[in-house]
Amino acid sequence: MRYTAPLTLALAASVTAVDFSGSHDANSSVWSSVPNLPASASPSRLWNRPFKRQSGWNPPSNLANALKEVWDHCMSTYSNFWGFKNYGWDQIHATGGKINVCVRWESSTAVTEAQRAQVASVYAAQYQKWFSWLYGYDNFPYSKIDVNVVGWAVRDKSLLQGSTSGITVYTDKDADGIPQCSEACGRFFHQDGNYNSCPGGASAHYDHSLWLTDGFGGGAGGDWGQRIGREYFMGALGSSDVHILLHEMGHTFGLDDFYDWTPTGQTNFIMNAGSSTVITDFDGWMLRNWWNGLSRNRGWQ
Ligand SMILES: [Zn+2]
Repeated sequence: MRYTAPLTLALAASVTAVDFSGSHDANSSVWSSVPNLPASASPSRLWNRPFKRQSGWNPPSNLANALKEVWDHCMSTYSNFWGFKNYGWDQIHATGGKINVCVRWESSTAVTEAQRAQVASVYAAQYQKWFSWLYGYDNFPYSKIDVNVVGWAVRDKSLLQGSTSGITVYTDKDADGIPQCSEACGRFFHQDGNYNSCPGGASAHYDHSLWLTDGFGGGAGGDWGQRIGREYFMGALGSSDVHILLHEMGHTFGLDDFYDWTPTGQTNFIMNAGSSTVITDFDGWMLRNWWNGLSRNRGWQ
């Protein structure tokens, strides 16, 4: 069942979360076959970028069959594939190509201003590894998606060392007592785009959250954002590819897991948890498949 309210998320009664990662991603053994800290020297994959504008669906012939298997599998197993309206795609459509992120700091460890800046830049850089597959592809309307951390939720404001100018600091808690960014300002809770109850209004809203949780060994991802271990992420800030985060970001944009099957001829790719530390061509084309299909269904092109 894909449309589940994650146990760890406190949800307004009327809101349904989609947690594509299910429970498997949170099992740290899933990720043990790849290094926790990929080498920072990983070469950037410049060849991923399209050389010219392309329209329509034109995957490489060696990937086409497997991509069709994946797409068909999603269509037949997602319970509300087209009707669900809070994919990452819907979020960037609503904002005109921006993602505002709020960090949920589920830790009593202090975090410096410099560390927060690094969290923001590394997080944004991971998203760009996905989005580089979209810029210039099949009428994708944005040439740069700005990803900004606009808020932090903490147990105590004193954990945020240095200046907090430029971010909103929240000390709200969810039903489980976990720091959370104000529901009044979160798209997850206001999918109609009405942020009238948010101090600062729509311009102060956030689209989804990054949970950084002490002692969390794996990951989780969905329309609400991504959740990874605090120690894992803070230890990976010098890494080029934060692979668990990359995987969970894929879920935010609708991509599926592959715990129970793999497409013909494809075994190592970021969405097959624990099999790759980088976004592969196959991952990139799965993302493009979503744009190709959803943009037409939604009437975005
Ligand atoms: Zn997953």
